[in-house]
Amino acid sequence: MKTLDFAVIGGGIVGCSVAWQLKRAVPDASVVLIEKEAELAAHQTGHNSGVIHAGIYYAPGSLKARLCKEGNAATYAFCDAHGIAYERCGKLLVATTELERQRMQALYERGLQAGLDCALLSEAQLHAREPRIRGLGAIHVRDTGIVDYRQICARMAALFAADGGQVMQGCAVTAISEQADVVRLETSNGTMQVRHLVACAGVQADRMLRLAGIEPDFAIVPFRGEYYRLAPHLDDVTRALIYPIPDPDLPFLGIHLTRMIDGSVTVGPNAVLGFAREGYPRFSVDAKDVREMLGFPGFWKLMPKYLRTGIKEFANSAFKRGYLRECRKYCPELRASDLLPYRAGIRAQAVGRDGALIHDFLIRRTARMTHVCNAPSPAATSAIPIGRHIVDELLRSPAAQEAG
Ligand SMILES: Cc1cc2nc3c(=O)[nH]c(=O)nc-3n(C[C@H](O)[C@H](O)[C@H](O)COP(=O)(O)OP(=O)(O)OC[C@H]3O[C@@H](n4cnc5c(N)ncnc54)[C@H](O)[C@@H]3O)c2cc1C
Repeated sequence: MKTLDFAVIGGGIVGCSVAWQLKRAVPDASVVLIEKEAELAAHQTGHNSGVIHAGIYYAPGSLKARLCKEGNAATYAFCDAHGIAYERCGKLLVATTELERQRMQALYERGLQAGLDCALLSEAQLHAREPRIRGLGAIHVRDTGIVDYRQICARMAALFAADGGQVMQGCAVTAISEQADVVRLETSNGTMQVRHLVACAGVQADRMLRLAGIEPDFAIVPFRGEYYRLAPHLDDVTRALIYPIPDPDLPFLGIHLTRMIDGSVTVGPNAVLGFAREGYPRFSVDAKDVREMLGFPGFWKLMPKYLRTGIKEFANSAFKRGYLRECRKYCPELRASDLLPYRAGIRAQAVGRDGALIHDFLIRRTARMTHVCNAPSPAATSAIPIGRHIVDELLRSPAAQEAG
């Protein structure tokens, strides 16, 4: 059996970014990108808000903050170089209560510390800029933008293929065995052997480790992000993206009004515990996913911490009125009939055995494997520097010395 130099599992934006940059860095290496679905970007990458984040939320100096800032610039540059449509429309983080106004001030100072191009708007300035949005004030983050990440993913894969990389779609990896000099993969298309494996499997990240015989010390818990599309007469309701001021104790950003690159506006996503990692219709249940989740001790430690929020999210998911109440805080003209159905996304949220949500990017390495275990938002924005970081590490691995 021929031994290839590298295999990358996962045709989401992280896997595509790694494969594309790896082939460019080691042109003589044989590199294969393996995706189980017929299409690339079939999961998180194709079911997100399409926001190019600027990085205001992340602690200055953290890896997440640095990769987001670099990723913001790299994403715009990639789109410019490859003719991909984007819009640097900016974002407003709107405070609607006195508590949020205090939190807004702290967030603004964090943005300044991180060197972001942002400004504080008074109530009057907010009204002048966005007459249909109501709030006590806002932070304007100018470098936030929108794009379709599926297009970026497709272009990275096309560049990879043009450089001689092999893209295998509709090919699921079913077993992994790391040996002294190779990694053996069983796939739905047969067996293959590679010198180094990079797994970027999103919601299946913990299972990739287990397939390779490594017991993960975390589990992926799926959190659904449900959206509505606003009725077309509201396509011009806002010029910028409108976000609430996040609660620092909660991991997700809150329901926001997002202009999409096709001209429509979505509202969402919420964050509802999911019972199927890849089941998009509401109330989807996958018995294996539920069994594993309930059997993971960290799940039972996580639940009590977010019980109140979790119940509220379930209620708002089941009843449109609750959802509507959240967005009417900053856009009072919205009515229930304005919220039209839209596809949901499912976040891969890594949770530790102690029940802590893992917020940072998490990468595990062995002699011949690199596993991306946690690539939460803003990993679509940060995919280019994440890929570069992984490739830089790989260039120091034995596989890179043996390649070609
Ligand atoms: C609702 C929502 C909104 C978000 N909004 C934003 C945003 O606005 N901006 C932003 O920057 N980020 C956002 N994110 C986060 C971002 O989408 C993800 O961080 C990013 O897409 C992760 O990419 P990935 O390649 O790691 O995972 P994925 O895109 O999920 O790709 C993983 C791939 O691995 C494949 N795979 C899994 N198992 C196997 C196997 N056994 N064999 C072969 N292939 C396999 C899967 O089929 C999948 O295609 C959002 C996420 C969600 C869910």
